[in-house]
Amino acid sequence: MSTPKRPSPSEQPDTPGPVQMLWLVAFGLLALMFLLTQQPDAPGATQTASYSDVKILIRHGDVREVTLQETAIIALLHEQRADGAIRMRAITPAQPDPTLLPLLEEMGVTVTAEAPRAPSTLIWFLPWILIIAFYFWLSRRMMGGLGGGLGGGVGGMGDFLSGRASKPAKLTSKLTFADVAGQDEAKREVSELVEFLRDPDRFQRVGATVPHGVLLMGPPGTGKTLLARALAGEADVPFFSTSGSEFVEMFVGVGAGRVRKMFEAARKHAPAIIFIDELDSIGRTRGTGLGGGHDEREQTLNQILAELDGFSAREAVVVLAATNRPDVLDPALLRPGRFDRHVTLSLPDKDARRAILEVHIKGLPLHHDVDLDQIAAGTPGFSGADLKNLLNEAAITAARRQAADITAADLDEARDKVMMGTVRTLAIQPDERHRLAVHEAGHTAAAYYNPGGDPIYKVTIIPRGRSLGSTHMLPAHDRHTLSEAYLRAQLVTLLAGRAAEKLLLGSVSSGADDDIRRATVLARSMVARWGMDPEIGPVDLRDSDDHPFLGQRIAQPRSYSDETATRVDQAVMVLLKDAEAKAVALIEEHRDRITRLVARLEAEETLDLPAIRQCLDPDRKITPLPRSRT
Ligand code: ADP
Ligand code: MG
Ligand code: ZN
Repeated sequence: MSTPKRPSPSEQPDTPGPVQMLWLVAFGLLALMFLLTQQPDAPGATQTASYSDVKILIRHGDVREVTLQETAIIALLHEQRADGAIRMRAITPAQPDPTLLPLLEEMGVTVTAEAPRAPSTLIWFLPWILIIAFYFWLSRRMMGGLGGGLGGGVGGMGDFLSGRASKPAKLTSKLTFADVAGQDEAKREVSELVEFLRDPDRFQRVGATVPHGVLLMGPPGTGKTLLARALAGEADVPFFSTSGSEFVEMFVGVGAGRVRKMFEAARKHAPAIIFIDELDSIGRTRGTGLGGGHDEREQTLNQILAELDGFSAREAVVVLAATNRPDVLDPALLRPGRFDRHVTLSLPDKDARRAILEVHIKGLPLHHDVDLDQIAAGTPGFSGADLKNLLNEAAITAARRQAADITAADLDEARDKVMMGTVRTLAIQPDERHRLAVHEAGHTAAAYYNPGGDPIYKVTIIPRGRSLGSTHMLPAHDRHTLSEAYLRAQLVTLLAGRAAEKLLLGSVSSGADDDIRRATVLARSMVARWGMDPEIGPVDLRDSDDHPFLGQRIAQPRSYSDETATRVDQAVMVLLKDAEAKAVALIEEHRDRITRLVARLEAEETLDLPAIRQCLDPDRKITPLPRSRT
C-alpha cells in the first residue's frame, strides 16, 4: 500500500523570467557588438576631424605618424599637449584616395597599417544568431511552459541555454473544498476521485475502474478552475495544468508534443491530476475549420484522445477538463473511456451566493450596516466570480472615499457596476425575473395538478445553460414506451409556462420558444408516427427522422400526398390547442395557489418538492417521514 507522494512545495528553479532573460541576452550581444566595432584608443586625446582637414595637416607637415585602419585614418601630430600626444581621427572616403600614400611619403610621415579586425565578420552574423536564438526560445517555451495560469511560466531561455529539456510544470495546490462555496453536488461527485487518488491501491485491489476523464461544465465564473485546484489540494497529489487557449496559434506539432509530455510526466508522478482548462478551444468538433487552418488544433486534440485511450485501468492519473461550451465539443471527447464523467456546476442560488460571499469577505473590513443575506438576495444570476468582483469593486469604492470600511452603500454601487458588466452572463432584471417565476410556476403547477406525466421534484429560476429557468421532472421509472395519456400530460406541462404568463401577466413572451418547439415535435410524433389521432390512424407519415425529446429533425423526402400532410398539420394543431386549453383551465382554477408559488419562487429561487407542495397543496398537510414521527 503506497501513500501518495508529497511533492516538495517549490519544485520550480528560481531562474529569471524568460522575458527578462531574453532582454539580458539581447543586451549582452548588442554590447559585445558595440565593443567589437570600437577601435582601442591610444593614450592621449583623440579628436575627430574631416578627412580633408587631416590631409591639410599632413601637407603642412604637422603630422608625425599615421595609422591606416580599414575605414579610418589616425594622424599623430608633432604638437604635444600636457596630457599627451594629439591625435586626429578621420573616416576615410569609400573611394580609395590615390594621392594619400604619395603625399605621406613626400612629407616623410611614418605609416602604420592595421589589418582589418577578424571579429568584424562576426558582426554580420550577430543579428542572425539573435533571430535563431529567439526562434528556439519561442518553441522551447511553447513546449515547456505548461505552468499556464496556475504556476506562471517556467522553462524558457534559461532552459534553452543550459540545454535542459523543458519539463511540464508540476504544481501543488493548497486549496481545499472549503474554498469552494456551494456547488455541493459537484463537490460530492469529485470527492470520489479524491479517495481514489489518495489511495489508488484500495480501488485497484478490488478491480474497480475509476474514471480517468472528468469534464467540469458550467457557465463562466462558477468555479470550475477553482474546483479542479481544490481537488488537487484535497487529494494532495501533483497537478499538471494547461489551458486549451495556450494551444491556439502554436507551431504545428508543438501542441501535440506538449500534450504527450504532460501525460508522460503525470504518469511518472502518479497518482496525479492533469487539468485541461477551456477544453473547448482545442476540443471543438473537428473538420469545421476552413481550408485546413486548424491542423494544429486537430493534432493536439487527437493526441489528447490517444493519451486518454492509452490509460490502463491501473493508472492513477485523473484527467480533469473544464468547459463552458460543452455543446461545441467534439463528440469523440465524450465517448466512454474518455471524458465520460460529467460534473455540472451551476450558477449559485441565494444560499450558495451567501456562502460564496462569506468565503470572499475574509479579511475585508465590513461596516456593520452590511447585510450579507440582503446582498445574496439582490444578486440573482451572479456567478461566484461576479460576487468576488462585487466585493472587490466595493472595496475600491470605499478606498476612493478614503473610508476605513466597506458600507452597504459601497456594495450597492458596486452591484450596479458589476450588473452592467454582466448582462451578458445572465444577470436578471427584476421584471424579467418575475416573468420567469410565473412561467416556471406554470410548468410546475401543470405537472403537479395534472398527474400522468413525469412527477415534479424541483423548480428553479436560476439560469442554467441556455435556458433561464427550469422545471425539473423526474421520470418515475425508465420509460420504454410512452402512453398516450402520458404524452398528453407532457404537452399540457410544456405549454403551461406560456399559459401562466398569459393569465397572470396578461401577455406572452419569447420565453416559451423552446417549449413550443418541443411540444410541436412531440405532437407531430404522436400523430405521424404513433397513430394517436383517431382520424388519421396508424400510418407512418414521418416527413423527417426526428427525436421527440431532443427535437432534432432530419428532413426526408415525403412519401404521401399534400392532402394527408394538411391533415397531419391540422391534427397536430388540434392536439396542441387542446393541451393549451387544458393548461389555461388548470391555471385559472388554481390561480391563487400558483400566485403563492410565484412569490415563494421569487424569494427562494429554487424550490424542492415539499416547498412546492406547501404552496400548491397546503391542505394536504405534508406528511413527515414515518420514522421522524415521535
Ligand atoms: P470558471 O473556471 O468556472 O470560469 P473560476 O474557477 O475561474 O471560474 O472562478 C473565478 C473566481 O471566482 C475564483 O477564483 C473564485 O475566487 C471565485 N469563485 C467562483 N466560484 C466560487 C465558489 N463556488 N466559491 C468561492 N469562490 C468562487
Ligand atoms: Mg476557468
Ligand atoms: Zn418553459
